[in-house]
Amino acid sequence: MTTETLFTRIINREIPAEFLYEDDQCIVINDIAPQAPVHMLVIPRQPLPRLADASQADRALLGHLMWVAGEVARQYSVDDAFRLVVNNGEAAGQTVFHLHLHILANKGTDQTFSESKL
Ligand code: AMP
Repeated sequence: MTTETLFTRIINREIPAEFLYEDDQCIVINDIAPQAPVHMLVIPRQPLPRLADASQADRALLGHLMWVAGEVARQYSVDDAFRLVVNNGEAAGQTVFHLHLHILANKGTDQTFSESKL
């Protein structure tokens, strides 16, 4: 039985996904069940289960993930309006226990963020 997370399997190319961005610390993919017209996930290669499990040693990685979110938002021209969401814990809606940042943007639609489930 594998102990790899779903996202580690995507990072290892065991499950197909288009990498919209990648570097030595993280990847960015489209969410398979988008909650907004643009819904991307920033996923660290290191499988930290939850944000609350981060240690002081993870501070640089956490900052990097935030920087990548802004960078990708610029690349996909949603930098004028987007949200970043991290679900921490099952009761908060976390379903994949491998830290990830949701990038949500409604570019080109009349949808408001309050309609988003995240
Ligand atoms: P969370 O509920 O915060 O843990 O977010 C997990 C996200 O992963 C959900 O929004 C899912 O739609 C998304 N997801 C699950 N499987 C895949 C997949 N194979 N490729 C892309 N996104 C996925």
